[in-house]
Amino acid sequence: MTLFKIIRILILLAVFVVVAFYAKNQKLKSRSWTEPVSVVIYRINGDNNSPVVNEYINELDEGVFEPVDRFLQQQSAKYKLIAKQPTQIRMGPVLTVLPPEAPLPGEGYVAIIWWGLKFRYWTYKNAVDSDSGMRRIDVFVLYHEATKDRSLQHSLGLDKGLAVVVHAFSSVEQDQQNNIVIAHELLHTVGATDKYAADNSALFPIGYADPEQSPLYPQAKAEIMVARIPLSASTMRMADSLDECVIGEQTAREINWLQEEK
Ligand SMILES: [Zn+2]
Repeated sequence: MTLFKIIRILILLAVFVVVAFYAKNQKLKSRSWTEPVSVVIYRINGDNNSPVVNEYINELDEGVFEPVDRFLQQQSAKYKLIAKQPTQIRMGPVLTVLPPEAPLPGEGYVAIIWWGLKFRYWTYKNAVDSDSGMRRIDVFVLYHEATKDRSLQHSLGLDKGLAVVVHAFSSVEQDQQNNIVIAHELLHTVGATDKYAADNSALFPIGYADPEQSPLYPQAKAEIMVARIPLSASTMRMADSLDECVIGEQTAREINWLQEEK
């Protein structure tokens, strides 16, 4: 190994340690829930400047995202948070730059860490607001034309970075499902984990909205970190809106709404 290579690796490692430390701090503050976490939604045309998408994102207003704030507020009511309202969503500007391309599945840890650093830097350059950086979650929504049977790339967030890329459809009929994805990804940034198996079915009991219901099926609602409602042991359907979702006990614990029993 040449000296140059060693120095390069050491610098990269140092950057990584500093970033990891900052991210940990950021996460602790955002998870104290002593005041509302501000959430900024950035709109990005994810379809090569498609005019249909442009029209949709330019006409979006802040009110479209209000159900996300309302959902988190309603779900937090039974826990003792200091903040009366966990989040405060507002709409940031339309961005014309795309985030760095996400690593493909199977590319390994180094690729993910490298993407994380690039994405963090990109966020730093493009998130216009610099206020309350410690308590702000940046949500970059890439909108795509809604065509039949089209499926979207999986959304991707920084584990501890309070920033996330969400893929969504640019159609009014999809607004409420987009809000489910936004709420789901937002909860990842504050520590929530997915609660479904490889075949997308909800894990029992943590992925069920009401694991104690008898009979167990059909469930009436979806746990937000699953977003699908189990109808029987082998069937399920996507929740239509956040009205059909709940934050389960395990998720509440992960995002620090419910203290660990001692
Ligand atoms: Zn997820």
